Amino acid sequence: MSRRFLIFLLLFPLAISAQDTRYPKDEFRSPLDIPLILAGTFGELRSNHFHSGIDIKTQQRQGLPVYAIGDGTVTRIKVALWGYGKVLYVAHPNGYTSVYGHLQKFSPKIEEYIKKIQYTKKSYEVEAFPEYGEIKLEKGEIIAYSGNTGGSSGPHLHFEIRSSISEKPTNPLLYGLEVRDATNPTLLGLYGYPLSENAQLNQSATKTQINFTKQKDGSFLADKVTALGTIGFGFVGFDRQDLAANKNGVYSVRQLVNGQVYTDYDFESFSFAETRYINTLIDYDHFGKYRQRIQKCFKSPGNHLSIYNTLVNDGKIKVNEGLSYTVEILIYDLEGNLTKLVIPVEGKKQILKIKDETPKTENYIIAKRPNNFDLGIAKVYFPANTFYENFYIDLKEGTDTVMIHNNRVPAHKNFTLTFDVTKYTAEERKQLFIARLDKDLKPSYASTYKRGNTFSTRTRYLGTYTLAKDTIAPTIRTKNFKNKQWLTNYKYLSLLISDDLSGIDTYSATLNGEWILMEYEPKTRTLTYNFDDKILDKKQCLLKVNVKDNVGNSTTYEVTFFRK
Ligand SMILES: [Zn+2]
Repeated sequence: MSRRFLIFLLLFPLAISAQDTRYPKDEFRSPLDIPLILAGTFGELRSNHFHSGIDIKTQQRQGLPVYAIGDGTVTRIKVALWGYGKVLYVAHPNGYTSVYGHLQKFSPKIEEYIKKIQYTKKSYEVEAFPEYGEIKLEKGEIIAYSGNTGGSSGPHLHFEIRSSISEKPTNPLLYGLEVRDATNPTLLGLYGYPLSENAQLNQSATKTQINFTKQKDGSFLADKVTALGTIGFGFVGFDRQDLAANKNGVYSVRQLVNGQVYTDYDFESFSFAETRYINTLIDYDHFGKYRQRIQKCFKSPGNHLSIYNTLVNDGKIKVNEGLSYTVEILIYDLEGNLTKLVIPVEGKKQILKIKDETPKTENYIIAKRPNNFDLGIAKVYFPANTFYENFYIDLKEGTDTVMIHNNRVPAHKNFTLTFDVTKYTAEERKQLFIARLDKDLKPSYASTYKRGNTFSTRTRYLGTYTLAKDTIAPTIRTKNFKNKQWLTNYKYLSLLISDDLSGIDTYSATLNGEWILMEYEPKTRTLTYNFDDKILDKKQCLLKVNVKDNVGNSTTYEVTFFRK
């Protein structure tokens, strides 16, 4: 490294990555031909994951043309009920793969390719890996239409750029795509954490909220913190771009202590293998209570994230009696807009007003070991390293119900919960399943494996589980037509399906005895058949639809219609 460059690095240690030269800036075009307005940024804090792309708003509409951002070849096509819904992966010669999710439909040539597979496999949900070069695309070619499929809660395009080899997602805004952003990140809250044994912060041994005020120069100044021992800080914030009100994620975070960088991380890239460690970056307990994500500036036990550029003393600050410290938290968006917060800290022992009163139960989890508990009606098995930290676990049992702590402790791995169903007859067991109860005691189906006298489920969610019974079969009705109707000019057939308790497991449909593809949209409970799929040679058509719920209750519905 040249000396001049080294000096440059020392003077400007934060290379704002919109100027990051590692990424090609003028090779890709935008995937849409509307101005880019984001409903989500890369690295944004989501449930159990960092957002691996950007969410581009599509003017509250579906069906906008989606373009190949560069020459390339389709390497993967997937159709799924959840996740990315209909998604396309395109590999480009420069070593990057672009990903387009929640699509409404693919371009005709890709649609034809995937429908063949769907009809062969007799399944709406499919995944295909075309040979390299089998489906070639040119830069700017329409490859699909934007939609709202899968786990999407409104029309938008989920767009990613990954390294083709490592499959690591990278921040798509590092490739020269333009998103207007002249707005500083917004700071909503600041919290201080006593971390070592006997540490205190503002007379408290537990997490404490700290007030701050805006200064004339636009920065924020926190009320003076009095502390002793090892402490850490965390903040709540978001970034807003210029053209929308969406609260998106920030790009980078730095924490300085007396001018020295203690913490520096950013969302240039991460790997899917580490994404669930987000639950160690945020204060998960706080999230469970208030649905608000505090981003910690220090590294908690069990955190294996690779996003840190600098981490001194794990971002923790050792406060000594009689000394003063200036802690600065700098929050940047990708354009380099900065929000700065200064926290004066004084090292001083004070009388403790709030003690750490984490309840001690009779069962203690040692995170790195496997842990087994027998609750009578059910057994629970946590493999080693299910949890990030040791803690007292709260376990209770009732009639057919077990409480496994609460949802404010994250599990990194699946654990196994096994119910004893000896007391139920074989007939009763058919309609029984394991349900997770939400805070309003509403049951939802947990994948139930039935074997001998036991039912088991594998889950990552602590909480209350019970045995529930589903005796009612799914319902099916037509949505856009009636029995015995002439449908000569119809393009689609739609039906509504639903199940009250265990939920829909499988469905199938035939037209005059032949399997047809019905696309299922769980969010609207709609099954749709496209008449373009098959030429009907008969005037009178018999449509048969069968739907099964998760315990095997089954409904078959028959309807006749006519077509010229
Ligand atoms: Zn997304």
